[in-house]
Amino acid sequence: MKITFPHMGSIYIPGEAFLQELGHEVVVPPLATQRTLELGCKHAPEVACLPLKVMIGGFLEALALGADTVLMIGGTGPCRLGYYAEVQRQILEELGTGLDILVLEQPFENPRRITQDVRRLLNRKGIKALPRALRVAWEKLKACEALEETALAVRPRERHRGLARLALAEALGNLRQADTIRTIQRAVQDGQAALWEVADPHKEAMLHIAVVGEIYTVLEPFVNLQLEERLGQLGVEVIRTISVVQWVKDHVIKGSVGLYKTTRLERSAAGYLRGCIGGHGLETVARTNDLGKQGVDGVVQILPFTCMPEVVAQAILPAVSQDLDLPILSLVVDEHTGEAGFQTRLEAFVDLISRREGTCAHG
Ligand code: SF4
Repeated sequence: MKITFPHMGSIYIPGEAFLQELGHEVVVPPLATQRTLELGCKHAPEVACLPLKVMIGGFLEALALGADTVLMIGGTGPCRLGYYAEVQRQILEELGTGLDILVLEQPFENPRRITQDVRRLLNRKGIKALPRALRVAWEKLKACEALEETALAVRPRERHRGLARLALAEALGNLRQADTIRTIQRAVQDGQAALWEVADPHKEAMLHIAVVGEIYTVLEPFVNLQLEERLGQLGVEVIRTISVVQWVKDHVIKGSVGLYKTTRLERSAAGYLRGCIGGHGLETVARTNDLGKQGVDGVVQILPFTCMPEVVAQAILPAVSQDLDLPILSLVVDEHTGEAGFQTRLEAFVDLISRREGTCAHG
């Protein structure tokens, strides 16, 4: 089995480690590019969510590199996430790719299928390899987020534009090579130190802006046009509100035994939204409200065109903005989004907040 999986930010690092520890040959797809998007758009329905299109493009690129199996995370509605994996399976079948799809989802969704898929995943080395595979992947996942968090803090303070990007890429590369818990921890320490080395100790971030929205668009730099980096270079320290570590704790660990509750989020969104609307729609409203009350300077919501939960949240955010006197910018991305217009909107938003706060824009 030559196995591949979709890209989403740096998740390929723990994903690759997990599958290698289970004894599989892993085909990591190339990082998403315009070609990936074009491939996906060519073969996915026009109205499909942007993440689905990019993933299809990535699977076809991995197929060309020899992959024969795709590992996907399944999901539930009420948005289109509920039949995401099934749509992908059909597209790949109709194209005659021969790619097999394994779907990991919460056990109570489809117990028979998850048992079959997990059995195939463990086939190679057996269940005895699972604890170490999980441990290594978990440590690498936490390590990726620790490094990326550091990069968020360093970017508005970097001595020269682009140095933080290079330091982060090198740190993630070293982390990818690490194969023991000790070397993973060392890669984080060294990577964080290297990142801080490119920061000017006399520079301070001008503004703190939170990024909320649909998980894939928040975390995948190709799809969000390097949103975090663009904001960082405008002197903004980004507060990333979505963490895959937290998602695993909530949806995989607690969710698989029915213990994940959205009560706290519902409390935070009270007055605007009553409950879960799929995707991260509830989180977007709840976190915007929380962070606004905590004094964040502004919020950027990013969403794929036609993303149902985020469109609902987008319609609610102006009320939160008015109630808290909080600048909020909603950015909708699709395959037609142009860089120049995207950058202009970010610069205008940062300028507007800078004037309100009386800070000097762009460092
Ligand atoms: S959250 Fe949005 S982008 Fe993701 S599957 Fe649902 S509708 Fe599509």
